[in-house]
Amino acid sequence: MASIPELQHTVGKTAGFSGTSLHTGEKVSLKLHPAPADHGIKFKRKDLQDEPTIDANIDNLKTVERATTLGEGAMRVHTVEHVLAALSAMGVDNAVVEMDANEPPIGDGSAQSYVDLIKKAGVTAQEQPRRFFDVREPMHVESKTGALLVLLPDDTFRISCTQAGPNNRFAQFLSTEITPAVFEREIAPARTFVYYEDVQPLMEKNLIKGGSLENAIVIRGDAVLSKEPLRFADEFVRHKILDIIGDLALVGRQIRGHVVAVKPGHAANAELARALAREQTRRSAMSAPRAIPLGDGGLDTDEIMKILPHRYPFLMVDRVIGFEGENKITAVKSITINEPFFQGHFPGHPVMPGVMQVEAMAQVASLLLFKLAKTTSRIGYFMSADGVKFRKPVLPGDTMFIHAELTKSRGERLAKAKCHCVVNDAVVSEGELMFMFLDK
Ligand SMILES: [Zn+2]
Repeated sequence: MASIPELQHTVGKTAGFSGTSLHTGEKVSLKLHPAPADHGIKFKRKDLQDEPTIDANIDNLKTVERATTLGEGAMRVHTVEHVLAALSAMGVDNAVVEMDANEPPIGDGSAQSYVDLIKKAGVTAQEQPRRFFDVREPMHVESKTGALLVLLPDDTFRISCTQAGPNNRFAQFLSTEITPAVFEREIAPARTFVYYEDVQPLMEKNLIKGGSLENAIVIRGDAVLSKEPLRFADEFVRHKILDIIGDLALVGRQIRGHVVAVKPGHAANAELARALAREQTRRSAMSAPRAIPLGDGGLDTDEIMKILPHRYPFLMVDRVIGFEGENKITAVKSITINEPFFQGHFPGHPVMPGVMQVEAMAQVASLLLFKLAKTTSRIGYFMSADGVKFRKPVLPGDTMFIHAELTKSRGERLAKAKCHCVVNDAVVSEGELMFMFLDK
């Protein structure tokens, strides 16, 4: 009865390929290695002494000029956004990206070679539930250069992007959900594009030795210069979406939300990733144990146990926060790893069974009914549950708020209550319960 959580994934086996690095023009080999659950994505510099690794994490972001660079101490890895986009969109949560240079092979300037590599290595499920960042309220960042990124709540990861060049030339728009299949078909093949006036000074300074029409499309005035024809009429906006996915991968969680981006760039993408990381930190701090106020007319555990016959490990209410009018009640239960059901549900990845959430709803609804009946000489038997849905996994450390509202009371003997459980402001389960009363 528990909702099945999405699991973390890693690559099935080590796989690699070689190519040219964009900035130095040297040959570089890249290998993807499997990694354990909760490891995240790490880059490893095989060419440096002690082979240091660095987390693909927004805290390690160093520069965003033209490409995304991570660094720690003296170590740097450049141009990580395309390989990160491929890993994130193809559903790889954990992997080591090993390289023998300071940046990945540029390939053809798209994420195609990384998608091919991931498919060669395979993607396999692990035992831990995947970590998500659920967008709960709109967030946005805006830059002086005219980039605007808005993030809206959504059940899936979607991007709607508007790209526009100088004087709004090559204005393009695309809106799509990002799934592995969509990414592989619609986004990964889109190549990097540059404006001639931007790259000319770099070419003169010899800063992009590996850059050529083999791995980038060059826009000069109204002309599009590339080795092969455009792969999509709107290839530029598709590449912008690719870069957004790669930069937001630095949050280290799969995002459930809708990114609306206008003229995005690495700097604005990184700023949004930082805002998400800050919000995640704030939420983690909030989910730490906190004092739940005893509201007006609330009940503490002692008072609850005078009403309900249930005892450990079957008492699923810690405190009643309060009653609202005659028909509503809000109660709370702190879920700790010490709940006996976690031992078997499931070993290695504890998820609160859905039936226990229904049990919690039933107990809270009973408290409301007893208050109405003003007697504890009868016991409420749980008769049926309709429309039960489990929407999100409930995990150790969660504080679960249980809401019940009496919708129908037929005579003295039957009652119906609409119930839902909430964790971190999101409904995790719901259902309509029916009770019958019998004398004790
Ligand atoms: Zn790019």
